[in-house]
This record gives sequence, C-alpha cells and structure tokens, in this order.
Amino acid sequence: MIKESASGSQEVVQSFRKVLGLLGFRGDFEAGLGARFVASTDNSIYEVLPRAIVYPRDAADLNRIVRAARRQSATQISLTARGGNTGTNGQSLSSGVIVDFSRHMNKIIALDVDALRVTVEPGVVLDQLNRELGRHGLFFPPIVSTASRATIGGMVATDASGKGSRKYGKTSDYIEALNVVLSDGSDFEVLPLPLAEAEELASRTGMVGTIHREALRIVREKADKIAAIFPDMNRGLTGYNLQKAFDATADRLSLAHLLAGSEGTLAITKSITLRVMPKPRSKSLVVLRYDDFDSALRDIPIVGRSDPLAVEILDDKVLGGSNDRYPLGRYRGGPRDPGGAPGQRTHIR
Ligand SMILES: Cc1cc2nc3c(=O)[nH]c(=O)nc-3n(C[C@H](O)[C@H](O)[C@H](O)COP(=O)(O)OP(=O)(O)OC[C@H]3O[C@@H](n4cnc5c(N)ncnc54)[C@H](O)[C@@H]3O)c2cc1C
Repeated sequence: MIKESASGSQEVVQSFRKVLGLLGFRGDFEAGLGARFVASTDNSIYEVLPRAIVYPRDAADLNRIVRAARRQSATQISLTARGGNTGTNGQSLSSGVIVDFSRHMNKIIALDVDALRVTVEPGVVLDQLNRELGRHGLFFPPIVSTASRATIGGMVATDASGKGSRKYGKTSDYIEALNVVLSDGSDFEVLPLPLAEAEELASRTGMVGTIHREALRIVREKADKIAAIFPDMNRGLTGYNLQKAFDATADRLSLAHLLAGSEGTLAITKSITLRVMPKPRSKSLVVLRYDDFDSALRDIPIVGRSDPLAVEILDDKVLGGSNDRYPLGRYRGGPRDPGGAPGQRTHIR
C-alpha cells in the first residue's frame, strides 16, 4: 500500500498545471491516481507515489516545465526525469513531478553517416537507435542488457555500458554534445572546451558563468584528491565523474563527463549528439567448458589475451534453465551437444 505524503497536496499540482498552460505547454499532464500509481515503481524494490507525470511534446516544453516548477519553488515542486524506467536503484522515482520522455520525445533528429554522428531526443530507445543505424552499417557500441527499453537519456544519465564494455567503454566515451535545460529554465549546449574558452565562460555573469567558475575551481583545487581517489576502471562509476571532467594534459574541460552518470541531478537533457561506429563485419563466439567455477575464473587472464569483446560465465543453473526452453541442438550451426570434455572449445560463427 502506497501512502500519499502530507506534502502531496493536489492544489500545488493544479497550480503547477495552470502555470504550465499559461507558458504554452503542449505535452500531456497526468495527475490521476491511476497514472501516478503506475508511475510509482521502476525496476527497483521501491515504490514512491509522484504528484503528477508530465510528458513533454518537444524540447521547448522542457523549458516550460522547468520555468513552471521554478515559479512554484515556495511549494517545492521537484522534477525527476524518466526514460525507460529500467534503473535498479529507484532513481527515476519521485514524490514530486516525473518528466517522462518515452511518450513523445523519442525521435532520431539527425544522422550524419559520413561523420559517424547521430543526434537524438532523450526518449529514443537503444534498440530503436541501433535498428536505424544498422540500415547504414553503423551501431552505437555501449549495449545495456535492457536495450529494448532503456533510453539514450537514461543511458547518459547513468553512464551506462554493457557487454563489450572492455573494448567499447561507456556511454560517456561517445558523447559529442548535450543540449540541456538548466535550473533557471535556460538552455545550455555542453561541448568539450579548450581551457581558454572555459575560462572565458567562467568570467561571465549568470548561471553558465557560475557553472564554469565552480567546475574549474573544483577540478583545480582538488586535483590531487581526484587523482588519488578515482580508481582506474573502464566501466564503473560512483558519483560525479570529476576524473574525466578535466584533462590537464589536453587542457580541456568536459562538462559532459560530469553530466554523464549524474542521474539527472545537474540538468535535464533535451538532446544528445553521439559518435557511432561502423558495425563489425563478423562476430564469433567461443564456448569453453569447465568443471567448476574457480577453474573458469583462474583462466580469465589467458582468455583476456585474445582480446575478446566480452567474457560471460554461465553456471549450470543458468545453462540448465535455458537448455530446457531453448535446447542448444535446435540451432543450425550450433553445437549439438553442449557436453564434451572439460576445456573443449566450440566455435560458433
Ligand atoms: C535486468 C537489468 C539489466 C540491466 N543491465 C544493465 C547493463 O548491462 N548496463 C548498465 O549500464 N545498466 C544496466 N541496467 C540498468 C539500466 O537499465 C540502465 O541504467 C539504463 O541505462 C537506464 O535507462 P532508462 O532509460 O531506463 O533510465 P531510467 O531508469 O528511466 O532513469 C535512469 C536515470 O536517468 C535519469 N534520466 C533519464 N532521462 C533523463 C534525461 N532526459 N535527462 C536527465 N536525466 C535523465 C533519471 O532521472 C534516472 O536518474 C540494467 C537494469 C536491469 C533491470
């Protein structure tokens, strides 16, 4: 049973809705209990009932949403972005207002095949993007397991990566530009900047000036701490990525690296420009059998020498369960018998 919080007064919500209307909001607004109930869960164990859900129709709607929430600041309307809702930590749940990108803001805006660059709205689902890129022999390399649901906005906000990350890295490795809405409702295009340009922005008044001054102060004053604390990992990330936000050797400030993985806490993303890659012409799979888990783990350094895209370990429970539903022998070209002597290899092309 979900309890309505005391601060969940629908008067505040109706006033927010009215301001949105006055600002020319074109999207959908839902504040009925049914819609809120549906939006109260994600892929985590948590349940939080939001006050309302807004579905922006286009990028301009996002400025309207932030401006309307700002006008209600005395009543503390908070905004939480939501993509495919596949996060496992409750990060797209909120007792405030949910901004859902999946209904309308799911278009591929521009694809430049020669420049290997694509610009998308945040609600584009990864499989949808890769289907379109695939028609041109391209693909977006970070593949999360939830590719049929996860959105590019959610992938940026969690700096997602997946199978193949040891070779292809994370979402942030592919961001060329982010268009975001700041907390005052203004737009900002986030690009990697040579230090001189970042310093010029830092000298300005207004929110963009403050952001650059603070970012430069932190990465400079805390340089030693940042170097000491952040582990050298190609996949994991906890907190804001200060390690990659400033490249001292290249004298380059990259605020996209701070936004990637920031879980929507720093800005709401309106559009994303990504680098994409030519699809590999072929792939092959090697299956190795082991008697026990420990021997498999011990061989990982040896397996790593062949520089595989990914190494997956399936134990007898997973194999047994999947073999019941999808017997390996049914697949043409696949191994007839998953058995055989330990250490035996099966090559599937
Ligand atoms: C079974 C399972 C397997 C998974 N496998 C992987 C995996 O292989 N690799 C991996 O990295 N993750 C994995 N995840 C976690 C999750 O799928 C990813 O983090 C995914 O990228 C989230 O995308 P989403 O669109 O569902 O985002 P949501 O869950 O909707 O939101 C995630 C975060 O992004 C923020 N956000 C969304 N859109 C925007 C926006 N436009 N602007 C600002 N912030 C925004 C939200 O506020 C929230 O903080 C898995 C989850 C499950 C349940």
